Amino acid sequence: MENAKHVYITTPIYYPNDRPHLGHAYTTVLADIVSRWYSLLGYNVFFLTGTDEHGAKLQREAEKRGVTPKAFVDEMSAIFKEYWSKLGVGYSRFIRTTDEDHESLVRNVLNLLNEKGYVYRGVYKGWYCTACERYYSEKEYVVENNIPYCPIHRRPLEFVEEETYFLRLSQFRDRVLKILREGEVVYPRQYAEEVASKIELEGLQDLSIARPKERVSWGITLPFDNRFTVYVWIDALLNYLTGAGFNKDKKHFETLWKNSIQFIGKDILWFHTAVWFSLLSMLDLPPPKKLVVHGFLTVKGMKMGKSTGNVTSIDDMIKRYGSSDAVRFIIARIANYEKDSEVSWEIYDSIYNGDLVNNYGNLVRRVTSLAIKLFDGVVRIAIDHEHAKKVEELVQKAIEYYNRIDIAEAVKTALDIAHETNAYLNRKEPWKQENPQPTIYTALESIRLVTLLLHPVMPNITQNIMNSLNIAIERGLDQFKVGYISEYKVKESPIPFKKLATS
Ligand SMILES: [Zn+2]
Repeated sequence: MENAKHVYITTPIYYPNDRPHLGHAYTTVLADIVSRWYSLLGYNVFFLTGTDEHGAKLQREAEKRGVTPKAFVDEMSAIFKEYWSKLGVGYSRFIRTTDEDHESLVRNVLNLLNEKGYVYRGVYKGWYCTACERYYSEKEYVVENNIPYCPIHRRPLEFVEEETYFLRLSQFRDRVLKILREGEVVYPRQYAEEVASKIELEGLQDLSIARPKERVSWGITLPFDNRFTVYVWIDALLNYLTGAGFNKDKKHFETLWKNSIQFIGKDILWFHTAVWFSLLSMLDLPPPKKLVVHGFLTVKGMKMGKSTGNVTSIDDMIKRYGSSDAVRFIIARIANYEKDSEVSWEIYDSIYNGDLVNNYGNLVRRVTSLAIKLFDGVVRIAIDHEHAKKVEELVQKAIEYYNRIDIAEAVKTALDIAHETNAYLNRKEPWKQENPQPTIYTALESIRLVTLLLHPVMPNITQNIMNSLNIAIERGLDQFKVGYISEYKVKESPIPFKKLATS
């Protein structure tokens, strides 16, 4: 990724059937952190998020409230934007699948797929989950008392038999397996293996891509048969092409697509591999550069979600930890790609108190007040090479983690620098030293580097800390060295994190 100047980052587009909760924030904040990281390194970043606004589920939700589907999604997508703004999510475009350029792209792509012979007419019979908006095969659904249930929502599936159009995914079985097995697209690799085994066991079935209008009217009309709407998953996946300008500027699109990093939760892995890679192949496009998959946030082992009724509110989190930055930090710390992560106020409190108040926050307070007390805030360059070496090694490690998109490890490594520096001050006792300048300067440099490393995670608080150090945040890797600043003029000694009122 080092040589590319551009990076294209996407989150899934969310179903706006209710306000976003911590589960939505998990994916979106992780993607935002990576986007801010590349921006800090000087890349041109295009970061796409948005809402998935068609389909039977939203149609029914709107009917229940007595409004039109469009009025309903207008209201809900605005709420999503409001929450992303609260959480400091700096997207480049908020795409809505009701956007005109997207609807026109979907029609163009479906016409193209039809012309290329990848679409045919047929009849579909199967068990359908209206919450997932997808069919489940016999091997996938759960049976209780002879009734098939959705494995995600644990509610009965509906038996559906209807005329439809199919997309010839089966032709792309070998191609998808090759991407999964030989490529480095899916991260962590365990998920590539999971999908590859499933395809080898069950094959890659052709996918029904149309819904009769009498059942699903709220959708994009199938361009070659107006009795149907386009299946929402096809509509949704194509947002990534609209967002990168596939229909507008081919050259710019190719630059972005070559450098695409897509974030998803593991529940939508199948659609973002088997279906998505096939669809891209039909359009003669390569898979994304990286597909980063994370585990669920769970409450008592169940995936957090509206339909399971176990959501953690973003507002409650912000209120408890005093700022959206602290919430973003907690999300970064618990980020887990391989495994599910159980929601726990106890763990979140201890992360907040341990990492932010007692470690990082305390270090900032201590060193800045010493700099003011001993030097009136003016500290010229004088490097303590022993501590500087330790710090620079950790900085390199954190940068490597970031570049591998291991956010949790990058953050923990940044915190190790703060921890080492607190221990360094205890050992050196600069307040007793005859010449405390090397200790204080090196400690200030350590703070600056921790702060830079945490800047993508906590954009506001780190900016305020840099302001009190009177240091500008630049773009590029040069600033990540001890000795980069020739003179500090510390303005004030902030307390960036307040102790929790509870406990
Ligand atoms: Zn379901």
